[in-house]
Amino acid sequence: MIDFAIPAELAAERDRVRRFVIDKIVPYERDPRLTAHGPTDELRQELVELARAEELLTVQAPESLGGRGLTHIEQAVIYEAAGWSTLGPVAMNCAAPDEGNMFLLSKVADPDQVQRYLAPVIAGHQRSVFAMTEPDGAGSDPAQLSTAASFDGEHFTINGRKWLITGANGAKTWIIMARLAANPHLPEGPTLFLADGDEPGIVIERTMNTMDRNYVAGHGVVRFDNLVLPREALLGEAGQALRYAQLRLAPARLTHCMRWLGAAERAQSIAIEHARTRTAFGKPIGEHEGVSFMLADNEIALHQCRLTIWHACWLMDNGEKARHESSIAKSFVSEELFKVADRCVQVLGGIGISDETVVEMIFRDMRAFRLYDGPTEVHKYAIGRKVLRG
Ligand SMILES: Cc1cc2nc3c(=O)[nH]c(=O)nc-3n(C[C@H](O)[C@H](O)[C@H](O)COP(=O)(O)OP(=O)(O)OC[C@H]3O[C@@H](n4cnc5c(N)ncnc54)[C@H](O)[C@@H]3O)c2cc1C
Repeated sequence: MIDFAIPAELAAERDRVRRFVIDKIVPYERDPRLTAHGPTDELRQELVELARAEELLTVQAPESLGGRGLTHIEQAVIYEAAGWSTLGPVAMNCAAPDEGNMFLLSKVADPDQVQRYLAPVIAGHQRSVFAMTEPDGAGSDPAQLSTAASFDGEHFTINGRKWLITGANGAKTWIIMARLAANPHLPEGPTLFLADGDEPGIVIERTMNTMDRNYVAGHGVVRFDNLVLPREALLGEAGQALRYAQLRLAPARLTHCMRWLGAAERAQSIAIEHARTRTAFGKPIGEHEGVSFMLADNEIALHQCRLTIWHACWLMDNGEKARHESSIAKSFVSEELFKVADRCVQVLGGIGISDETVVEMIFRDMRAFRLYDGPTEVHKYAIGRKVLRG
């Protein structure tokens, strides 16, 4: 059966989230602690406490770990509402990279690792990073991984350099991807490790200056300088990092789509209001077809994006991996929503590029969405290969 109806309880929760974000979170968008390197940890903690007070913190986490265990479809509805402000997911602890990291750890971490590394992230007390991308190694092609790990039977030693590592500065739970060298104890190959951000072998060289500012603590350049970790630091099985990364990426890509859909709707609502009230050539600009068509194109895109997300979610809720469909969704939604944001800037005229409205921030923040969790071209590369295979 195909059913697009949102159950009444979920719709009520969606409305509660939207109201929370509008009333409590949007006022923080002008807070000076929302810096060029994203919200500070102090701002994040303040927002997290607001969500905690409303029982809206980390609702996606499994019930066994204190969350409500939302299905993928339920997440789509709730995250879209949260995304109305880019600070909404930060407050509700469902922003990247924590959200994807929590998902991965809830699937792969052992009970001790859950207590030490996952539980404090779910509780909103600490942040996490996923360290994969490298200046001259892993990127679009993670198989190029160059960060090296060795194992002597008791300890791992990791050396290498990463960049674009979101939230690196101040994060405590580190998921690190490194290539385990041949050894007599464990399988070799790309492997995930868990580490505490305070380890002396983790050196944050700098925070990069980027055009987005929606992720807590921005994006770091990091060096692993003889990082020594115990055997218990192994996350899952040795040599399986690329499989685990895929496990994390398929749903994580979709949750990006959900949150940005909410942000794009916000931009559209601002553009609509402007089109109704601003006049030119004797009438509201919205009555000029050139403007109304831009708003119509936005409405069409928002609708198509929502349906594409929901379909991939529905597949995953029915036990499918939906890698192909989540790839289609990620490439389509990131491209379409960026066009929506661009048209909203255009409808606003000159103020569209100013911070008189939040549209300018949404436009800048959204640009990176076409790159992370697989650039559009890499998804098309994978989709194209699948199509040709038949
Ligand atoms: C805001 C932001 C946050 C990020 N956070 C993290 C993080 O927390 N942790 C982490 O590990 N990484 C993170 N990344 C890195 C992200 O995963 C990479 O940017 C992404 O995987 C692409 O890799 P790259 O930047 O090295 O681009 P490259 O691999 O250098 O690719 C450059 C371009 O080449 C093209 N290209 C590559 N392969 C193909 C192909 N097969 N066919 C056609 N074109 C192709 C694409 O246009 C691509 O954009 C983040 C990136 C951004 C922008």
